[in-house]
Amino acid sequence: MNLKVRLIGDPVLRKKANKVDKIDEEFLNLLEIMTETMYREDGVGLAAPQVGISKRFFIMDDGKQLRKVINPEIIEFLGDEVVFEEGCLSIPGIFLNVKRPEGVKVKYTNENGEEIIEELHEYTARIFQHEYDHLEGILFVDKVSTAAKAKVKSKIKDLMKEGRKIAKEFGEVEIK
Ligand SMILES: [Zn+2]
Repeated sequence: MNLKVRLIGDPVLRKKANKVDKIDEEFLNLLEIMTETMYREDGVGLAAPQVGISKRFFIMDDGKQLRKVINPEIIEFLGDEVVFEEGCLSIPGIFLNVKRPEGVKVKYTNENGEEIIEELHEYTARIFQHEYDHLEGILFVDKVSTAAKAKVKSKIKDLMKEGRKIAKEFGEVEIK
């Protein structure tokens, strides 16, 4: 399976992803390949749509724990909104300040099929929210000020051109 990292401009990044129905060997294998891809690309998170799969799962590593997050829900936002600089493997070279709640209470299924409910804070919560957005077809550049976006407009335009090219070549990846 060729897991090509998709760039902004690829329509798969703008779709609302579908639920994962079953965690079988093939799916676990896919999680492994995605994990390798994330580390290779120096990312701290990678959502399925970013490799062309419109399904609700992502992996993330906050430096303390690798999480494999399937069918996540954000139950509650916690704390005040905080500003933090974000980047994205699908928008390489662009780093902008994004305002988000400091913490989240979340629910998801892990790779062992167990239901996890936990409160995440700071950096961990930040990654979770960013990755969760990917499942809704939202990118972090959607959340920055018009002024900040204006500064990177031409760079984004170039990336989108490349993103559309990759989309044409690889299409959407279907999994069972
Ligand atoms: Zn991202």
